[in-house]
Amino acid sequence: MFLRSNTSVWKRMSLCCPVQNCLGTQILDTSCGGVFKCPEDDTPLDYAKLYPDREVQTEIMNSLVRCTHYKDGCRWVDKLQSLQTHLDSCLYESVPCPNRCSSHLLRFNLDDHIEYLCPKRRVVCDFCAQEFPGDYMDQTHAGSCPKEIMWCENKCGAKLERRFLSNHMKNECHKRTVSCQFCDREFVYETLQTHQYQCPRFPVSCPNRCDPTKIPREEVEVHVQELCPSATMSCPFKEAGCKFKCPRYSMERHLEESQRTHLHLAWDLVKRQQQQISNLCGTLHTTTHVTDGTFVWKISSYKAKYIEALYKNGKELVSQPFYTSRFGYKAALSVFLNGNGAGEGKYLSVYIKLLPGEYDNILEWPFRLPVSFTLYDQHEDVDMRANLTESFVPDPTWKHFQKPMKDIESLGFGYPKFVSHDILKTRNYIRDDSIIIRVSVDTKRFILP
Ligand SMILES: [Zn+2]
Ligand SMILES: [Zn+2]
Ligand SMILES: [Zn+2]
Ligand SMILES: [Zn+2]
Ligand SMILES: [Zn+2]
Ligand SMILES: [Zn+2]
Ligand SMILES: [Zn+2]
Repeated sequence: MFLRSNTSVWKRMSLCCPVQNCLGTQILDTSCGGVFKCPEDDTPLDYAKLYPDREVQTEIMNSLVRCTHYKDGCRWVDKLQSLQTHLDSCLYESVPCPNRCSSHLLRFNLDDHIEYLCPKRRVVCDFCAQEFPGDYMDQTHAGSCPKEIMWCENKCGAKLERRFLSNHMKNECHKRTVSCQFCDREFVYETLQTHQYQCPRFPVSCPNRCDPTKIPREEVEVHVQELCPSATMSCPFKEAGCKFKCPRYSMERHLEESQRTHLHLAWDLVKRQQQQISNLCGTLHTTTHVTDGTFVWKISSYKAKYIEALYKNGKELVSQPFYTSRFGYKAALSVFLNGNGAGEGKYLSVYIKLLPGEYDNILEWPFRLPVSFTLYDQHEDVDMRANLTESFVPDPTWKHFQKPMKDIESLGFGYPKFVSHDILKTRNYIRDDSIIIRVSVDTKRFILP
């Protein structure tokens, strides 16, 4: 028969002997010592009236029981009389920590507790070999033992005791951060030396050894070019042709002594430049001027110019020169507002004049390209315009079309009676006090020689 495990009953039974009194078989707690009370009415019992029931006791004590902790996993089964002995060593029994740390633990966990967890355990530090209570070790010493071996936090690969670490990281570690004393930028110590070969503020000597004081590297160039008294410099009249060179400190004397030479050189330069300017102007003229054979000329202030022509007999207006093509004949338009020759007094006369041009020597003479003159009708509406045009093909026998000669003004060829004054006043030939005349040379027959 197994007795059910009712802990309080079991405890009592394990601690006392069954006794009998007048009330019959009862189980009395003797562990409280001294006075017994009747479990029925709580009145004190007379010990003399109590006697052990040997028979029952033997029966009970021989019954088979499981360990109190069988639910926790203890497999022990034996007679009740051995239970107490078992419990004294049962691994599932709860016991106070022998270090008096106030924990109660299963005997099962006790070794672990005493060895690793008990705050009152004694521990020896692996690093400094000193002994400490467990709680001091866990909370304070671990992580601060001065003799603990650590890796350098700069990852330099060094391992040293904690107490040497901060000095190492500050003063010895080749991966520590340091400021360049010249430019104040921060560097890893081992790259600092390389940096100083390039550091813009690193003091270096002037390459001309002008002064024992050193100058920051980035200022050397300016120093040599603009300040260094020992730097060799060219005379400021170099561009004008003076080839003199000397240290900066004696340049002043050269300038004093060479004023006349410099003036000559500068004057020669001015003359050369003048020549260049006029060449440039010539080139500019040919590239910006009309070179497509068509020249349109607006003669403004018509009235004033007409009156002037009226009073100054034979007053000729000559246009800017133009080329018939990029490398063609040079020509200008000539206009007599009050007429010329057969048209004098009643007509507007127009002529084309050949001028000496750049390419005359390679052109074909006499000039034989067809020429036309047009007077524009400046009506708003294009469809309403009635432009007046006259054209001719040069007669190669006429001297006007021979190669023009320098310094001799050639005569023009064209129409003395181009437009009569009467017609000129009609329509919109004069508008805003201006007339617009076009001369056009037909270059289709022009072949570049
Ligand atoms: Zn047990
Ligand atoms: Zn403990
Ligand atoms: Zn330690
Ligand atoms: Zn280090
Ligand atoms: Zn630096
Ligand atoms: Zn210098
Ligand atoms: Zn000079």
